Amino acid sequence: MIFEILIFANFRFEILEVPVKVITRDRVQEENRFVLNWKEYSRHLKESGLDPDPACRPFFSRYEAPRPDMQFIDQLLGLQAEVREVLDRISGEQVIPLEFWQTIFREADKLTETVVPKPAVRSDVSEDLLKYLIFEKSVTSETYRAYLYGELRDMILGKKIFLIRKCPECGVYFLDQTKNRSKVYCNSETCGNRAKQRAFSERRRAREARFQQPIDFMHQYTE
Ligand SMILES: [Zn+2]
Repeated sequence: MIFEILIFANFRFEILEVPVKVITRDRVQEENRFVLNWKEYSRHLKESGLDPDPACRPFFSRYEAPRPDMQFIDQLLGLQAEVREVLDRISGEQVIPLEFWQTIFREADKLTETVVPKPAVRSDVSEDLLKYLIFEKSVTSETYRAYLYGELRDMILGKKIFLIRKCPECGVYFLDQTKNRSKVYCNSETCGNRAKQRAFSERRRAREARFQQPIDFMHQYTE
């Protein structure tokens, strides 16, 4: 099960300032525009074992294709900082602080969803037609925050909230779904191995440093 809140918290995007040529009626001018490195984001998540589902990100669709202004980007970063703080404290302290508890339930109640029938309805709906319609629920971008808190609420209701972990190596958030709750790194092959190798070479360096210390013969003989 992949929670959008984890994906959102893991979103390590850069804001790229891209020069574009804008053609107006009488001339071509250069303008700088801000875009998010969406591709980089997807790649990072895939590496971390979190495969983003493009069907469930109406919020990001505002940031992906059109040109977000700086206010949008600030909003996004603010929301992400807020979400990260919540996840950091819950995973780090292994408690749900009371103020978060209240926020989670209050915010989750504000969630509104729009329902989009596929294909679009263009005539009276008979029982036959209804049979063929598919309904997709979509979160409005205005209540995306509520959606994220809604996921936290679901994790509380499902008693999964304390499975949230933060990888000590790369900072990625994930759910520890192992039986004995022993998952430390987001990915044992990349982050786990890197940490293991570092610990190994640190031990070796410490060992070598011990052997290289000059032996204090004077001290030994005077005893
Ligand atoms: Zn990691």
